[in-house]
Amino acid sequence: MVVPCYNEELVLDETSHRLKIKYTQLIEAGKISELSRVVYVNDGSKDLTWEKITEKHEADKMFSGINLSRNRGHQNALLAGLMTVKNLADCVISMDADLQDDIDTIDAMLDKFENEGFDVVYGVRDNRDTDTFFKRNTAGLFYKLMQALGSQSVPNHADFRLMSQRALDGLEQFQEVNLFLRGMVPMVGYKSTTVYYKRGERFAGESKYPLKKMISFAIDGITSTSATPMRLIFWTGFIVFVLSIVAGLYVFISHAIQGRTVLGWSSLMVAIIAFGGLNLLAIGIIGEYIGKIFLEVKQRPRFIIQDFIND
Ligand code: UDP
Ligand code: MG
Repeated sequence: MVVPCYNEELVLDETSHRLKIKYTQLIEAGKISELSRVVYVNDGSKDLTWEKITEKHEADKMFSGINLSRNRGHQNALLAGLMTVKNLADCVISMDADLQDDIDTIDAMLDKFENEGFDVVYGVRDNRDTDTFFKRNTAGLFYKLMQALGSQSVPNHADFRLMSQRALDGLEQFQEVNLFLRGMVPMVGYKSTTVYYKRGERFAGESKYPLKKMISFAIDGITSTSATPMRLIFWTGFIVFVLSIVAGLYVFISHAIQGRTVLGWSSLMVAIIAFGGLNLLAIGIIGEYIGKIFLEVKQRPRFIIQDFIND
């Protein structure tokens, strides 16, 4: 398993404790090898998360750790983990550190992988009662918007999923820097399925996704999986252009033929404001894509690993 951690010192004891119990059960039942590992990825935490991880590793080799050179965000941390362990396991499950993902769902995931031959198993929340009203609704809206914009279908899941080794090999070939794994994994293909689980409360600490990060995550999600917003600009521009021809004709006729003085200050102002707004909106959307291109062409590394402790 790969578990990204950013300032999670408060939850690591409990998470490790519960994972230990789960692994022990699964090993006894012969479902996983005793060489199975939990790999914590420390995403440049400011607290004692890395110290906690090394402590876990010292005490029990079931726990391994990857230390990133700095904070790179949830998606990059997760990818760093997945790419590091890719060739060390038949399958990898990714999970949040805060125990919001239900550990008992792992059995069902392994079953789908082992016995039914699925390469990707998504853990999908069948309720989000424990998330705040605000988060639930903004997230719902986001996935609807993604669908409406024609991004390939993104199951409404967090990053709780199982991937087989060959699915991870496929993922490795996606060299993009703007990561939105929920949109990338479906692009990898292979047989996939979903298992449902009840999303719990964060065990301790607070969400590492404040509103600002949520919005930027949503924009990343949309612009990295869909070009529809750009096309919308084109069509809006086109319609506005047609309307302006009609309006121009009207102005010309009322002025030259009917001899009336045309339109006053208010209509002018309305037009200026409306088109000013529209222009800014359009430029903003284009800027978003250009920003993405800018980041992609630089080909910067998506993560840098400082340490990898694993025995
Ligand atoms: N996380 C991370 N780097 C970051 C932010 C978050 O590795 O910059 C991890 C975090 O430790 C957790 C997971 O990503 O394991 C999901 O974050 P969180 O639970 O805070 O998000 P929420 O559940 O509130 O959406
Ligand atoms: Mg959480």
